[in-house]
Amino acid sequence: MPMSQVFENRLLPVLDEIINYYGTPFHIYDEAGIRQTGQNFIAAFSRLNGFREYFAVKALPNPRMLQIMQDLGFGFDCSSIPELILSRQIGARGEDIMFSSNNTTLEEFEAADADGGCLLNLDDISLIAKVPQMPETISFRYNPGPRCSGNSIIGDPAESKYGVADTQIIDAYKAAGARGARRFGLHTMLVSNELNAAYMVQTAAMLLEVAVQVLKALDIRIEFINIGGGLGIPYEPGQKPLDIVAIAAEITDLFSAYKAQNGCAPRLFIESGRYMTGPHGVLVTTVVNQKDIYRKYIGVNTSMAALMRPAIYGAYHHITVIGKRPKQHFEKVDVVGSLCENNDKFAIQRLLPEIQDGDHLLIHDTGAHGHSMGFNYNGRLRPKELLLRTNGSVELIRRKETVADYFATLNFTPQVMVPAKTCADMPRNLRAAS
Ligand SMILES: *Cc1c(COP(=O)(O)O)cnc(C)c1O
Repeated sequence: MPMSQVFENRLLPVLDEIINYYGTPFHIYDEAGIRQTGQNFIAAFSRLNGFREYFAVKALPNPRMLQIMQDLGFGFDCSSIPELILSRQIGARGEDIMFSSNNTTLEEFEAADADGGCLLNLDDISLIAKVPQMPETISFRYNPGPRCSGNSIIGDPAESKYGVADTQIIDAYKAAGARGARRFGLHTMLVSNELNAAYMVQTAAMLLEVAVQVLKALDIRIEFINIGGGLGIPYEPGQKPLDIVAIAAEITDLFSAYKAQNGCAPRLFIESGRYMTGPHGVLVTTVVNQKDIYRKYIGVNTSMAALMRPAIYGAYHHITVIGKRPKQHFEKVDVVGSLCENNDKFAIQRLLPEIQDGDHLLIHDTGAHGHSMGFNYNGRLRPKELLLRTNGSVELIRRKETVADYFATLNFTPQVMVPAKTCADMPRNLRAAS
């Protein structure tokens, strides 16, 4: 169940016109679909007081997209300085931003604290001493480690580089309190693209258990738990979308039970990226070459620079050919880009209708971790991004990269430093080598 029927119905009738106007390749995102998904999400969790979604900026870091998220009432999950700046540029402040870096630097702490601050989520117990200014509210990313290793859904967090260990978590809150923190949150993020509904529910249950432990050990009330992102989407035909209403109902029951036992419950935060925008984007590309050697290859005018997921994760992205064609002429092909990397393939041995040069292909579900993962290896440039707005107009929300962009980092004041210990001081044999 790739791209939604509604998106298809909105896009296909106008696609030729968009292609003629803007030219391929481009990612195009469906504002109406994104808003609908966001509103359904809010409605599903509406019985939980203080519920908030923090959109994971890395999924689709475009200011226009962040404005839509802000309009829905969402906050922003950031983990780098540019992501903080992006969120603040559209007016997010303080508790609108949750900053969850890993291996955090002093510079990042300073940026997190600047410009109205944010909710700071620490990834390790050692960072309590390193954060220059302990904020009033502090959160910790929790790594359950072996506590969860029996859980087939969550996998083995003991191998993950993230978070505070289960054995350290009480000490972490104690130490943060000693440094002046007064309000506390608890965060985790353990999986990615998970289509098993039980995962989110189990994660919420686990964090509520930890909250009780913290309450009993330190008399500290956790004010919010953030169960992270990782909600999956059906990339492959036949996969079922998550039933968010059912998930929310189960989580809401957990919170009611917690409240009944402990007097009050924390707020719930989720930081979904993929679930919000993933299915509402497609990469539109044109077939420029075909070759028939040991396999048949369909060459398109974009590459893994625009969409890395198939190459680096072996991820499936559905592909459709635009325009009517006879159903009986299917061929098994590899759809490829132009990078000097044999894994620059959007599809491998995929059955597609017979294709001509000049045909347009839709590569589905590129709305999250698509353009944003792109890169410039091999001098490949990233495509533009378009927004199909609710009113039917089509807005350019990022121009394509140019050769000048590629050369931008070579534009600098020439500089050479001469180390005090120069070649002249080196033994003769090393000098010859250098
Ligand atoms: C990437 C990330 C997310 C979003 O993940 P999705 O799979 O897009 O939902 C949320 N939180 C953190 C800390 C992340 O690193």
